[in-house]
Amino acid sequence: MSIEIQNINKRFDGFHALRNVNLTVPSGELVALLGPSGSGKTTLLRIIAGLEFAEEGTILFNGEEATHRNAKERQVGFVFQHYALFRHLNVFQNVAFGLQVKPRKERLSKGEISDKVHELLRLVQLEQLAKRYPAQLSGGQRQRVALARALAVEPQVLLLDEPFGALDAKVRQELRRWLRKLHDEIHVTSLFVTHDQEEALEVADRIVVMNEGQVEQIGTPEEVYDKPANPFVLNFLGNVNLFHGRVHEGAAKIADLSVDLPAYGEADGTAVVAYVRPYDIEINRNRQGSEEIEAVVRRIQGAGAVARFELERLDTREIIEAELTKERYRELGLRSGEKVFVKPRNMRVFAQDYQI
Ligand code: ADP
Ligand code: MG
Repeated sequence: MSIEIQNINKRFDGFHALRNVNLTVPSGELVALLGPSGSGKTTLLRIIAGLEFAEEGTILFNGEEATHRNAKERQVGFVFQHYALFRHLNVFQNVAFGLQVKPRKERLSKGEISDKVHELLRLVQLEQLAKRYPAQLSGGQRQRVALARALAVEPQVLLLDEPFGALDAKVRQELRRWLRKLHDEIHVTSLFVTHDQEEALEVADRIVVMNEGQVEQIGTPEEVYDKPANPFVLNFLGNVNLFHGRVHEGAAKIADLSVDLPAYGEADGTAVVAYVRPYDIEINRNRQGSEEIEAVVRRIQGAGAVARFELERLDTREIIEAELTKERYRELGLRSGEKVFVKPRNMRVFAQDYQI
């Protein structure tokens, strides 16, 4: 089932929570809605579910108008951050619930329900725990039960609102891999809300980056990470250093550096900002050329997969964050207080007005 969202606008007492949202979710994809808290992710998900209605815009399911259908008619499965399972029902009964309450003529036989629940429990790897009660499960196990319960009624679309948000980091990481695997097995069109960029990058086929009720960019994880449409996306998807400068004769001048601005068209003197990821900061002990920035090492954190440096620019006193491979770190043998020459690579330049 594909989902098409066209020009959705939603206001709460005059507060514009969603602004002209357009989005297509192809059938069978796992799409992440990624954005900071308050950016409208839950509101959009609830509108897709039919739990909330927009004052403007259209929603199509498989090309058919679904804007005014209610939640039940839309056949969506919903998993929330805190999915209250029925405490007095065991795992099996929780998953079976949606099948048992169907009208008699649609309801499966007892044996068929049992087969189906066991199949779902196999899928979420909880077969051994069918007789346990929610209180006897870990948080991660409870969310897997919630997911099995949502899948039991064979939804056309699966919607997950920060399903792992309440779990600790290690369990979250396990569950996101597990969700990806599960999706590869069942291919139900899924929309998954998260504010955690790593989660989105790892799990999703496609990411919708949201900010203040608007869609900033839609793309594959690689596209949004490597070709961010604007500084918001760049900044939200990872740490980034800012270098301020100005346009001069078709290039951005940043300290002694010059970055070409093909087809930029900004007038001379326009304020610009160059954004550089910490791992794109090259550090040398000696000057390599003319295009470098002088800095002093302020802090080194050598533990971890990469060595992290805090460098202070000599000209502006701004702090630059750099990440070096362990190999380069050892090779340089730098200590706090030493002077270095910084060479940024892959600078992405945007006009200053774009700033976040
Ligand atoms: P997210 O899920 O991205 O954190 P939400 O969709 O929950 O964001 O909320 C977006 C904005 O809309 C927030 O500013 C929130 O306060 C507001 N909002 C959400 N639901 C309501 C509501 N029922 N009444 C009033 N304001 C709401
Ligand atoms: Mg939310």
